[in-house]
Amino acid sequence: MSESAKPRSRFPAALHQVAPSATARAGTLRPQRPLHEAADDARRHVAPTGLGLDGDAARVRMVMRLQQEGVRCEPVLQALRAVQRHGFVDTALAAQAYEDTSLPIGLGQTISKPSVVARMLEWLFLGESARARGHLGRVLEIGTGCGYQAALLAEVSSHVVSIERLRPLHDMAHQRLSALGTPRCRLLHGDGMLGSPSHGPFDSIISAAGGEELPEAWLDQLAVGGRLIAPALAAGGRHQVLVVVDRTAQGLRRTIGETVQFVPLKSGFT
Ligand code: SAH
Repeated sequence: MSESAKPRSRFPAALHQVAPSATARAGTLRPQRPLHEAADDARRHVAPTGLGLDGDAARVRMVMRLQQEGVRCEPVLQALRAVQRHGFVDTALAAQAYEDTSLPIGLGQTISKPSVVARMLEWLFLGESARARGHLGRVLEIGTGCGYQAALLAEVSSHVVSIERLRPLHDMAHQRLSALGTPRCRLLHGDGMLGSPSHGPFDSIISAAGGEELPEAWLDQLAVGGRLIAPALAAGGRHQVLVVVDRTAQGLRRTIGETVQFVPLKSGFT
């Protein structure tokens, strides 16, 4: 998916409203992997990535860059430190995993740029429920892709339902996340435009693919106090923008954000 061509926008509001320590739920975030485990992997002949043991240093540098660019939400930063992005891409691309770039994941799809992922998660943290709870609650993700963002979401929520329309990507993500042991994450193969009514309503909804409009099903499955973020065509139809929708007790409130470029949201599944 993805790519934001434009410089960082401050939309929708000052993200430092999310108080770093107040939002970190005790016990939610996985600690960094102990070095001795990395050494064990090395002894078991894990394929070399050119990153050093587990890419820990490269990942820390990536997170520092994101902080310098203005990402302030501590739970998001913690999740980005904890999840090994290089484990979600082809070994040949692992050395680029901590650059701020999208990378191909097969079938014409891409894993999003870390900065775009970080900003979208930060915006979700500014939703009413997320601010009150300090985590994203029940999350719906549309477009599992390689599973990287689903793994991040699992770090900062009570549970995640993630839907992918392309079977090979769903299967691969399922394998990866099972191997990592991500119990709070349920992957579904299907048309994400329909959401998942049986698992909803959701406190946070995030799409990694953009259509002409936001599907009604997503809005229907958004809980009161919940927030949705997704790319959609801007008025005039020439480019995509990020759209944030909040469901309040009075109804839906929509905010338009920065210009982005995500893969298309397609109906049906194969
Ligand atoms: N979050 C992913 C990004 C994947 S790219 C990651 O971390 O890798 C966006 C994904 O959305 C693609 O895999 C594409 O197949 C999927 N997609 C597009 N339309 C969809 C739909 N209607 N339902 C489910 N997935 C969809």
